[in-house]
Amino acid sequence: MSSTLSTPPGYAPFDLDSLRRWLAGKPELAARLGGDPEGWRVDEVGDGNLNLVFLARGPAGGLCIKQSLPYVRVAGESWPLPLERAWFEQRHLADTGPVVAGLAPRLIAYDPVLYAVVMELLPHHKIMRLALADGERHDHASIKVAEYAARATFATSVLARPFEAVADLQAVYARNQALTRISVDLIFTHPYIEHERNRWTSPQLDDLVADLRGDIPLKRAAARLGHAFLTRHEALLHGDLHSGSVMVARRDGSGVARRDGSGAAPLDGPGATPDDARVIDPEFALYGPIGFDLGAYVANLLMAYFSQPGHEQRLGDRADHAEWILSQVGVFWRHFAARFDALWSERSATATGQAAGQASGQAPDAYPAALFAGAAGRAALADERRVFLDGVYTDLVGYAGIEIIRRTIGFAHNLDFERIADPERRAACERRTLRLARRLMVDPQAFADITSIEQAARELAS
Ligand code: ADP
Ligand code: MG
Repeated sequence: MSSTLSTPPGYAPFDLDSLRRWLAGKPELAARLGGDPEGWRVDEVGDGNLNLVFLARGPAGGLCIKQSLPYVRVAGESWPLPLERAWFEQRHLADTGPVVAGLAPRLIAYDPVLYAVVMELLPHHKIMRLALADGERHDHASIKVAEYAARATFATSVLARPFEAVADLQAVYARNQALTRISVDLIFTHPYIEHERNRWTSPQLDDLVADLRGDIPLKRAAARLGHAFLTRHEALLHGDLHSGSVMVARRDGSGVARRDGSGAAPLDGPGATPDDARVIDPEFALYGPIGFDLGAYVANLLMAYFSQPGHEQRLGDRADHAEWILSQVGVFWRHFAARFDALWSERSATATGQAAGQASGQAPDAYPAALFAGAAGRAALADERRVFLDGVYTDLVGYAGIEIIRRTIGFAHNLDFERIADPERRAACERRTLRLARRLMVDPQAFADITSIEQAARELAS
């Protein structure tokens, strides 16, 4: 794991032995694992795109250790990347932790010299993207991700806090420039030009990619979405909220702690249930339009949906599963909208109390309570909440489209399609998805509500 890239003094990537020694030398971490360090089980997950991720287990519990490398792991040293991304990940876990407890792994420690985040181990979980491709149904997952998004975005916005507090947070995340640069390039630029980092199922999709390069309305839409991404700092976003950033409880129960102490350790939080779902990997955190995170998640549901025929063993044996995945698009948006609306409404009620009583200095500055007093004021504010959420929905539509395009013809592809070995079958699934993506981006107004997205997907798939 030696690197020719220069790194700050004291930094070195862990290997299994050095990690074991490091953990053994930290009493508070060693105590969480318990027992003799020689008996700990330490593994490297190996499927991280950017970083090293280790899982450590002992008789008392487990830990997950995520460490930055000075380059992009999947690309190698030819693509250097600053180590600071671990700092932003731990900062996001810390800033959102109080409001998303049980919906994300808990931050346990951070080492600023080794750029290592130590977090709660999710011991009996698997990546949701894999679960969807394996044909598993997780009815609570999209609701939990929606809950996570509603709580994290609301709490970090001027709808919940004074502008000074939000401005300070915005200044912190404005420094996450290396990863924002990746998003700007890979999501909003490269798929629309010729670039060495693009790839697609070729030659099957060559015609479609050629059309796209000449598609002026599509490029205008991409540019508008990119501009809003960089200028509309509504709330703290996760920045990469897709099904590969969600872990769900394993259906087969493997990894669950056994009575004899073998197997995985129990969770810290309320997590050892079949319904558990956690959002991981917020290293791309930034302030931006809320619809960006929501659109990314919806896009990944849609890609999982369109990929299902490619996973069939017999014709139609994935039809029910596909329809269930599609239904989660509506489940997700409706839960998000209802919860965001409720959080706002509760916050306004408290703020009215604060304004009437002693000024606490904590009242939010957007939609000030003083402007919406009395029954008429309350009705007007309810209306304003609806208008706001309509705007978030419109953003979701466009960002869902752009996420699909970047994951089918850009740099980072999805297992949903990649697992389809036959290129003809894969291309057929991707082509339908890309058709929907273009419509979502170019004509978002045509998708008046979330069911119209589901309907359009169903029509394209049949
Ligand atoms: P990267 O940002 O480098 O892609 P991720 O944060 O996505 O890394 O993590 C890579 C993999 O490590 C995940 O796909 C998951 O399998 C595993 N993983 C990440 N966090 C945890 C955790 N807290 N508990 C258990 N496994 C985890
Ligand atoms: Mg990552």
